[in-house]
Amino acid sequence: MRAAVLNAYEQPLEIEELTSPDLGPNDVRMRIDASGVCHSDLTVQKGGVPFPPPIILGHEGAGTILEVGDAVSRVKVGDKVICSFVPACGNCWYCLHDQSNLCEMSGETMFVVRGLRADGSGVLGMTGLGTFTDEMVTHEAMVVKVETDLPAEQLALIGCGVTTGVGAALNTAKVQPGSSVAVIGCGGVGQAVIQGARIAGAGRIFAIDPVEMKRKSAEALGATDLIDPSAGDPIAQVQAATGGRGADYAFEVIGLPETILQAYGTARRGGTVVIVGMNRFDATVTFPAFGLFADEKRTLGCMYGSAQVRRDFPRFVGLVETGRLDVGAMVSSRISLDQVNDAFRAMEAGEVIRSVICH
Ligand SMILES: [Zn+2]
Ligand SMILES: [Zn+2]
Repeated sequence: MRAAVLNAYEQPLEIEELTSPDLGPNDVRMRIDASGVCHSDLTVQKGGVPFPPPIILGHEGAGTILEVGDAVSRVKVGDKVICSFVPACGNCWYCLHDQSNLCEMSGETMFVVRGLRADGSGVLGMTGLGTFTDEMVTHEAMVVKVETDLPAEQLALIGCGVTTGVGAALNTAKVQPGSSVAVIGCGGVGQAVIQGARIAGAGRIFAIDPVEMKRKSAEALGATDLIDPSAGDPIAQVQAATGGRGADYAFEVIGLPETILQAYGTARRGGTVVIVGMNRFDATVTFPAFGLFADEKRTLGCMYGSAQVRRDFPRFVGLVETGRLDVGAMVSSRISLDQVNDAFRAMEAGEVIRSVICH
C-alpha cells in the first residue's frame, strides 16, 4: 500500500510504501476509492490534536471491501462502504441510546497501527482510519455499507464533511422551517450546514466567510444572505437583518475560540448556538456568565453532526440521489495521492471547498 504519512508535526506528508497489517477477527481490508482532504487533517498536521506521528492522515473516505476477518458480520467482500471516523459498535451504552457518535469503542480503535514499515515498525492511522492510502485495514464498526451508484468522490465526503454539517442542522440543532440560520465558516462542513438548513426549510440563511469564492458557493447551495466579516461586524449585520434580535440558530464551523464567541453573539436571545468546528486540543473559551443565564441561549456541542452513521449515511446518500443534497458542488478538485501536500496548501489559502484524492 502507498500512504501519506505525517512523520513530524508541521512537516509535509511523505508518501511511503507500507504493508497493511494482518486482519484481526473484526477487521476489514478495503480499497480506498476516494478520500477528501479535510481541515481536521491540517489540524493534526499542525499538532493541534494529540495524534502521535508517524501516522497516516485522512479520515474522510469511501471504498470497496477486499477481505474480511473471521468474525465480521456487517459487510462482505465487494461491498461499497463509507468510512466513519468514529466507530458505531452497536452495543455500548451510547450506541443503545441513539448517540453512536459518542461510541465507547472509539478509545480502542483510535490509536491502532494501520501500516507497517519494512523494518517492522508500525504507523498509526488517523482516528483509526488513515484514508490517505490506496488500501486500508480498519475495524468493521468503522465502515457502513451503502447501496448506490453515486461516485466515490461524493461518498467520501459523506464520511466527514457532509455528515458533520448536514447532521449539525438536522440532528443537533433540529432547524425549524422558516427559521433564520447563521453559518460562520463556509468550508466543506459549513457548506453542508447551509444545505442541511435549506433541506430543513430555513427561511433565511446567512453565510459568513471572508473568502468570496466560499460565499458564492454558499449562495448556490442555499444561502440567502452573504456576509463578509472583514467588511464590518457580522453580528451587527445579522442583527440588522433580523429585527435587531439575531439569528434563531448560529453555527460555528471553523474551530476557533473567537468565532465561537462570535456565534454566541450572533444567536438571538433564546436562540441556539452550535459548536461544530474542531478546536485545538489546548484551546479555551470564556463566556459572559450573566448572559449565559439571562439570554437563555442553548449552546450545543456537535460531535460528527450528532450522526448515527448506520442510519444517516444511507439517509444522506438518499438525499443526494434525489437531488436534495448537492455533494458534487462541494468537490473543488480531484487530485492524486502524490498531490496531498498541494491540497493542504490550497486548503490553508482558502482556494478550495474540498480537494478529493481519487484512485
Ligand atoms: Zn473531517
Ligand atoms: Zn458503541
